[in-house]
Amino acid sequence: MSNLPSEPEFEQAVHEITSTLEPFLEKNPEYRRALAVVQIPERIVQFRVTWERDDLSVAVNRGFRVQFNSALGPYKGGLRLHPTVNLSILKFLGFEQVFKNALTGLMMGGGKGGSDFDPKGKSDNEIRKFCYAFMQELSRHIGDNTDVPAGDIGTGGREIGFMFGAYKKIRNEFSGILTGKGANWGGSFIRPEATGYGLVYYVTEMLRDLDGTDWKGKRVLISGAGNVAQYAALKVIELGGVVLSLSDSTGALTAKGEEGFTPADIAAIADVKLARKSLTAFNAESRFEWHEGKRPWTLFDKADVALPSASQNELNGEEAKALIKAGVRYVAEGSNMGCTQDAIDIFEASRKTTVSATETKGMVFYAPGKAANAGGVAVSGLEMAQNSQRLKWTPAEVDAKLKDIMVTCYKTCWETGSKYSEGGAIPSLVAGANIAGFIKVADAMRD
Ligand code: GLU
Repeated sequence: MSNLPSEPEFEQAVHEITSTLEPFLEKNPEYRRALAVVQIPERIVQFRVTWERDDLSVAVNRGFRVQFNSALGPYKGGLRLHPTVNLSILKFLGFEQVFKNALTGLMMGGGKGGSDFDPKGKSDNEIRKFCYAFMQELSRHIGDNTDVPAGDIGTGGREIGFMFGAYKKIRNEFSGILTGKGANWGGSFIRPEATGYGLVYYVTEMLRDLDGTDWKGKRVLISGAGNVAQYAALKVIELGGVVLSLSDSTGALTAKGEEGFTPADIAAIADVKLARKSLTAFNAESRFEWHEGKRPWTLFDKADVALPSASQNELNGEEAKALIKAGVRYVAEGSNMGCTQDAIDIFEASRKTTVSATETKGMVFYAPGKAANAGGVAVSGLEMAQNSQRLKWTPAEVDAKLKDIMVTCYKTCWETGSKYSEGGAIPSLVAGANIAGFIKVADAMRD
């Protein structure tokens, strides 16, 4: 990559995957070529998005779609609207998406897109105008058998609605070109809940396998306050866990008592976020404490589970150590690449100290986002299937399929991890996820 401009996030994602593939590649050197090929996106589209502000002035942003790999099916992955968006970030997200989508077992390739547009402080009308202008160009590059975008940070149900409406006007065609649509106009039930619910279903398997336990009474730290964090929190509460924190880019909100956040608190926070306001706008009462500019990881001296569900690199090495000190046994990413490589190394080193399946004291069981947060894109895949059939499944049917996919995904990570993990008595879910996802994509590319 030496003659290319530096792309730190993408390089980090490539390093994270390639470093864990080595034990597999040593035994299967014929896969080395696929590893070189799979790092290069099949296609990248970059475009200008001009739109009109409410004061009639003209605004301009950059739009992108990275069509990374179509070996397993149409490109599939979200659209991120955030001022930090650049090609490095979208290539990292697209690369992760390729393997994540493979781990769902559904027939989806991987892609990612978005814009450096900042939804914060914009009116609904401005968001709509941006979405229409964005789709004006994106519509030439997507299709229900070509590339099916969805939501990500900054793109929720409302934005998908604006974009879907724009596509219908531009193309005079109602087809499943986006997922995350409203349930009353072609969307799937459980899609909004899917990433958060799926994350909790995945961790349920981890809890059982490591400690023969479940969520009851577990003290859970969650970062983020968006779609993933909200539904993860609701599912944790439903299963008997105690949610102690949520956060956003301005700071962390922690619960003081033993009760933690209630479903009513989460609903009120969802309203605050829908209005594009910061968490400080939530009427926190005396049950909560606000920590300006902080993340939740260092704020508790006793916790069991950490679910980073905000953005990439939101949990670093120092914070990983703080979690271990607080007794955290489980870390699973609702966000993509939530942990820095330092933090992953610390968790993996703790795993390597285990001597038997029952002597795991001091170990943190870590699950990477590409496995643990695959529930979102999995239900997107189910939405595509429903759209193709012109059918709609019930919430219970979709939820059961989601659960099944997450359990199978976990088993795949555990089994592949058992085969190729280095050190420790408990398999590495990172190695398992990376190797299993890679084999699936590489085999399809070769065939
Ligand atoms: N943005 C989500 C992810 O990171 C969902 C993508 C999709 O549903 O296509 O997996």
